[in-house]
Amino acid sequence: MTTTRYANILKPLHLGFTTIKNRVVMGSMHTGLEDRFYNYPKLAAYFGERAKGGVGLLITGGISPNRQGWLLPAGGTMNTLGDIAPHRLVTHAVHKHGAKILLQILHAGRYGYQPFVVSASPIKSPISPFKPRQMSESQILDTIQDYVKTAKLAKKAGYDGVEIMGSEGYLINQFLSRHVNQRTDRWGGETENRMRFAVEIVKAIRAEIGEKFIICFRLSLLDLVHDGNTMQEVITVAKALEKAGITLLNTGIGWHEARIPTIVTSVPRAAFVDYTAEVKKHVAVPVIASNRINMPETAEAILASGQADMVQMARPLLADAFWVNKTATNRVDEINTCIACNQACLDHTFKNKRATCLVNPRAGYETELVYVKTKKPKGIAVVGGGVAGLSAATVAASRGHDVTLFEATNEVGGQFNLAKVIPGKEEFHETIRYFKVQLEKTGVDVRLNTRVNREQLEREGFDEVIVATGVVPRELKITGSDAPQVLSYAEVLRGAPVGDRVAVIGAGGIGFDVSEFLLKPPHQPQPQPVDEWKREWGVDLHANYVNEGGLQPAEVEPPVREIYLLQRKTTALGAGLGKTTGWVHRAQLKKHGVRMLRGVHYKSITDEGLWIEVDGHDQLLRVDTVVVCAGQESVKDVMPSEDQKTLANYHIIGGAKLAAELDAKRAIREGAELAAKL
Ligand code: NAP
Ligand code: SF4
Repeated sequence: MTTTRYANILKPLHLGFTTIKNRVVMGSMHTGLEDRFYNYPKLAAYFGERAKGGVGLLITGGISPNRQGWLLPAGGTMNTLGDIAPHRLVTHAVHKHGAKILLQILHAGRYGYQPFVVSASPIKSPISPFKPRQMSESQILDTIQDYVKTAKLAKKAGYDGVEIMGSEGYLINQFLSRHVNQRTDRWGGETENRMRFAVEIVKAIRAEIGEKFIICFRLSLLDLVHDGNTMQEVITVAKALEKAGITLLNTGIGWHEARIPTIVTSVPRAAFVDYTAEVKKHVAVPVIASNRINMPETAEAILASGQADMVQMARPLLADAFWVNKTATNRVDEINTCIACNQACLDHTFKNKRATCLVNPRAGYETELVYVKTKKPKGIAVVGGGVAGLSAATVAASRGHDVTLFEATNEVGGQFNLAKVIPGKEEFHETIRYFKVQLEKTGVDVRLNTRVNREQLEREGFDEVIVATGVVPRELKITGSDAPQVLSYAEVLRGAPVGDRVAVIGAGGIGFDVSEFLLKPPHQPQPQPVDEWKREWGVDLHANYVNEGGLQPAEVEPPVREIYLLQRKTTALGAGLGKTTGWVHRAQLKKHGVRMLRGVHYKSITDEGLWIEVDGHDQLLRVDTVVVCAGQESVKDVMPSEDQKTLANYHIIGGAKLAAELDAKRAIREGAELAAKL
């Protein structure tokens, strides 16, 4: 049944010469597959699945128009006829399902992680070790022609158009903004000069390719760096691009070097849509909103209120390729929601690994991780209802197995039930909701409040037993660690009272999370209101902002507790956190005055507080509560030893298998991979 509840999402967009079947754009996202021609069958399957899932318009990961523009050495490039053959696999896979696809042309400029980098001015970026050379007049003109050449090749490869990447601090953005552009020739200075490079690229492509080809321009609407553009300048550029011949105007928010988060999970949903709505008032071309739009309610509200004509999502469509079809058929509760963790997508990209998704391990692995209906249904017991067990149970049941899930507590979700109470991690509720719906839809027999042992499992005659019994917090073993003021992170997150002065022992992901939890009063309104979030991070609240780059001084609420965050290692605290998210956690604790100590030796806990030794000196931290976040230990009592004979086949996954580096990404993937094979 087709729903009218999301009528605006599902409405076609007529562009005159072509029609996009709905308002959902899959935004550009580097997967790592686009850089090597032999990975294109996998890339085609990845895009094809999303086109089949109902997306109207898809945009590829960034492809460079020349080698100076490479993001990484030997990155994806399109500038010879020989480059187009693999792309035909992609365009064919998408067109088969009635969707359209654009090739994104991305010149990294000074963000390139390679020695040939160039930019508007020779100013090194803080995120690449390579200093760029300033582009000469003739290099600029040649580069414009390279864009044209790439667009022509894209057309030959079957693309419906191109997206010109002009935001996020890449080359065109480097020309657009005084933050990098300090030229005094016709390509620098006033807005008219700084935008010349962008405008000439669009004009040249339009002149060469004609009218029946989509040119989407991704414009930075909010630079979030000093000397960035004002909204008035952004509007001037948008109008000039429209005049030059763009078909669609897409939103970019924040340069990669900005120290304000723009996509992580603590950014409220649709936090930046006001800036898109402001620009939309001044142009007639359809405008696309982006950033932290992950569920149909948010997307529909943006479109219904006329703030944008289309909504762009990238990560949410990695998390669920069938997002649009589920929306269209009243199955929103079945959407596997992107929790904006970046752990398996962007963090992989930055480590040069293939992007996938924490909540959907099939993303990017469509041809390798396949869930085929079984011809021989088995009786499968899954012991433990954390995310590893949920993943295994739902995949096995979806394949036709008869699955029973045993969970010792009164709820499924495991460690996600702890994570979801951290301020800014409200999205974790969605994963638990998704799995609960899947348990029901796939017919898993869920037995809550049921702690099983091996004898019971053997008696019930299962063919396979999947042990996903998870972890328990590691205890601290020093003098006084059994005192009542010493709590585990699990006790704290479940609501145990905590004093005004706290020492957090262990600075892994959970030590950081718990510190953030303790900074704020309990029962914060969740999620954080957008304006409050903007004030906290120093983002101009006005859509028509006059402050350069949209920055304003941050207003930080005083923390409700005095917190020490401690670790034994001598490395920087938080060094092991996610590449694209760790800095946000570190910045958040720093601005709230959390004192971070490294190289700490824990000595004892007394009524006075926590005694530690740092650099050979004893110190007393006068704290009322000590919270232990010292990692976890596996729980695997159900698992037989190798020499024990059992009736069923036993398998162990997730934290029960390995507590070190335990994380949800591995847990969900292990569950799915095992269940795909049984
Ligand atoms: P973790 O990352 O292993 O950190 C635990 C910390 O405790 C270690 O860094 C260690 O640091 C310290 N420690 C270990 N044994 C100790 C002992 N016997 N006594 C005192 N300190 C000890 O574990 P976690 O923080 O519990 O996180 C678990 C997993 O959840 C992580 O691997 C992560 O993947 C995931 N997670 C991720 C996020 C995120 O934001 N991405 C958030 C939460 C959890 P020292 O040895 O230096 O003291
Ligand atoms: Fe979203 Fe996390 Fe999946 Fe990336 S890994 S798509 S951020 S859920």
